[in-house]
Amino acid sequence: MSAEVFAQLAAGNAARRTGFGVPERRAALTALAAAIRAHQGEILAALAADLGKPEVETRLTEILPVLAEIRHSLRHLKRWTRVRRVRPTLAMLGTRATIRPEPKGTVLIVAPWNYPFSLALGPLVSALAAGNAAVVKPSELAPATSALLARLVAASCAPDLVAVVEGGVETSTELLALPFDHIFFTGSPAVGRVVMAAAAKTLASVTLELGGKSPVIVGPGADLKRTARALAWGKFANAGQTCIAPDHVFVARAVEGDFLAALRAEIARMYGGDPQGSRSFARIVNTRHFARLKALIEGATAAGATLVEGGAGDAGTRYLAPTVLTGTTGEMAISREEIFGPVLPVIAYDDLDAVLEEISAGEKPLALYVFERDREVIAKVQAATSSGAVGVNITLAHYLHLNLPFGGIGNSGLGAAHGEWGFRAFSHEKPVLEDRFSSLSLLMPPYTGLSARLARLVQRLIG
Ligand code: NAD
Repeated sequence: MSAEVFAQLAAGNAARRTGFGVPERRAALTALAAAIRAHQGEILAALAADLGKPEVETRLTEILPVLAEIRHSLRHLKRWTRVRRVRPTLAMLGTRATIRPEPKGTVLIVAPWNYPFSLALGPLVSALAAGNAAVVKPSELAPATSALLARLVAASCAPDLVAVVEGGVETSTELLALPFDHIFFTGSPAVGRVVMAAAAKTLASVTLELGGKSPVIVGPGADLKRTARALAWGKFANAGQTCIAPDHVFVARAVEGDFLAALRAEIARMYGGDPQGSRSFARIVNTRHFARLKALIEGATAAGATLVEGGAGDAGTRYLAPTVLTGTTGEMAISREEIFGPVLPVIAYDDLDAVLEEISAGEKPLALYVFERDREVIAKVQAATSSGAVGVNITLAHYLHLNLPFGGIGNSGLGAAHGEWGFRAFSHEKPVLEDRFSSLSLLMPPYTGLSARLARLVQRLIG
């Protein structure tokens, strides 16, 4: 099945070879946007079924990012696809050089379950903008969205241009063995390693959008009300199942009490006294993840951590309350694995340098957040750490900025997505060099005294 789909797309690519220019790409993107607009009700329903995602969150974090990516691509496609002339270097005087972006070919997009709509279609927009044919493999853990994606793509894309192949690990493994020209994977670092190993066999290039623990530093000069609001939103949106969600917070000891009070007030303001009844709060994706999160909380409290807020849950409906813990230590599982749920450990610190050292000693995070008014502290945090991105006095929002690259580093990913970076991920920037005056022939054999003098001169001038 997967092999047949691949063959169909590869044949489509061959047929389109020179016939998939800017107008055709625009038409494909416009048709996709129209289908998304026409299916909005179904999209809202699918995300509600899979994750209990509130309508506002589905609109802002699933539908909007894809439509914005399409709009941005339509606006800039002409510039991105332009053949760019570059100046000759001294040694290349007399030549004409250009860079011609070309599609990589037939690409595979493997998506996760937490933003199952936008993380499947966002990369597809970039792949189409760059002129590729694509297979999209949605996550089997968001089945309603997976089925919807298959219908939506079938209704709006040519079958030899885009195909959705539904399925789980087995299907994914089958697809990864095919000779795709690029693999764009979004998911966990563990499966990222599997993807890269598979790509090594076919020499496909890869973009890996992975996860990990994204730390937060709340400095002594932070505006605590604003900080609490941004953190509660960043952590509890989609019930914490967000790759760039704040994982844990380091807070300056002097402001810890006030910060915790502000955070609890913010949780109450956002989700009311009974978050289970709130229409603003999502659900855990499945019972396995629900049990994993409960075990993280219980493991931490059994080992001495304090529950400051939440902790309750209901396995039947996969509701887990917005939860805040203090007193977690490095040995606890909650401090080692990506939490990926509505549970926020808050750790008081005395020495910022020690916190920066601890962050630098671990895996490089996908995002790092700093809340502070003192610009020196903000600059120090940025200079002393390495992460996929930095958010200053805000969480999550850098994801929506299409003039910024989005991606990780090291354990949190490889390569970047969004806007022009997404286009580039799916393009080969092909250099073309033309010799106009045959000037380089002076350096070719037979080597004479003149060529020796020339070689010495060239070496002196540019070496
Ligand atoms: P996952 O790695 O378990 O699954 C992702 C995809 O890979 C799914 O489509 C799944 O079917 C497939 N897959 C799973 N196991 C596989 C295997 N052994 N071989 C081949 N394919 C396999 O990730 P998930 O649980 O869906 O998502 C959560 C993770 O994704 C978190 O770590 C999160 O931080 C990360 N994430 C990162 C980003 C980002 O943009 N960087 C965005 C969302 C999620």
